[in-house]
Amino acid sequence: MTTGLVKSADLHLHTFYSDGTFSPEEVVARGVEAGLGVLALTDHDSLEGCPRMAAAAAAAGVEFVPGAELTADAEGKEVHVLGYWLDAGNDRLRSELARFQRVRQERIEEMVASLRRAGVPMELEAVRAVANCSAPGRPHVARALVAAGHASDYDDAFDKYLKKGRAGWVPKARMTVDEAVGLIRDAGGVAVLAHPALYRDDGLVGRVLSRGMDGVECWHTRHSASDAARYEGMACRAGLVATGGSDCHGMAKLEPLIGRVRLPYDRVEQLRARRPRSGVT
Ligand code: AMP
Ligand code: FE
Ligand code: FE
Ligand code: ZN
Repeated sequence: MTTGLVKSADLHLHTFYSDGTFSPEEVVARGVEAGLGVLALTDHDSLEGCPRMAAAAAAAGVEFVPGAELTADAEGKEVHVLGYWLDAGNDRLRSELARFQRVRQERIEEMVASLRRAGVPMELEAVRAVANCSAPGRPHVARALVAAGHASDYDDAFDKYLKKGRAGWVPKARMTVDEAVGLIRDAGGVAVLAHPALYRDDGLVGRVLSRGMDGVECWHTRHSASDAARYEGMACRAGLVATGGSDCHGMAKLEPLIGRVRLPYDRVEQLRARRPRSGVT
């Protein structure tokens, strides 16, 4: 039985190639279970999961969009930029992703050192065993803190140790929004501002959207219905595509979020039409 006549999409998903817990195959299986027809992989600073996810999606008859979530700086604030239909063979993109991955690996060491100075006896090797990917981040450290009994659960680990200002918080490398958008478009992709409500500054969001963004993520599991409506209005006025995705990180939450956002397929087509080389042979 189908869940609807029109295909729906989840355009924001993570695997264990960054800070999700699912393999690419598990993400596809869960997506199929949720009745989704299009899945985009958007791991942080990595395209490594894309070949496996493309193969699993093809086998399952699901449309796949290769992507990544980049970390950018907008007026001193960290914002995330989603790139879709990225060419993994693009030299500039490859070298920038490699650079950001190196910085993320060094940052794990700094987080552990900083936690140890604060009296939390974490072993680097124990954290490395959890953060076993090219693009490790705070969620891995959170899981290691829970496993070692220093936090009751994932959210508690962020609250106590990892959110900004806490002992384990270490700033992350960022590129400018202009660099992120340039990199994405140079690699044949389209750029979408991720989860704008989380920045709590719509003036900033408006300015970021005017820097060559193709779309804005209106529907997200941490957005309210009024957030979604407000950003859809902004997208419409700016001539940008209103997109959405769950931002599922697998079992980071007790219930995986995949399928909580169901974007109608016409939005995927609108986004695809904005690819810089679309229509060029
Ligand atoms: P990082 O990229 O290493 O700074 O980690 C950011 C990731 O941590 C985000 O993509 C979320 O998955 C997760 N995250 C950030 N803040 C929180 C929070 N307060 N509670 C739970 N997860 C969070
Ligand atoms: Fe994440
Ligand atoms: Fe994000
Ligand atoms: Zn994300």
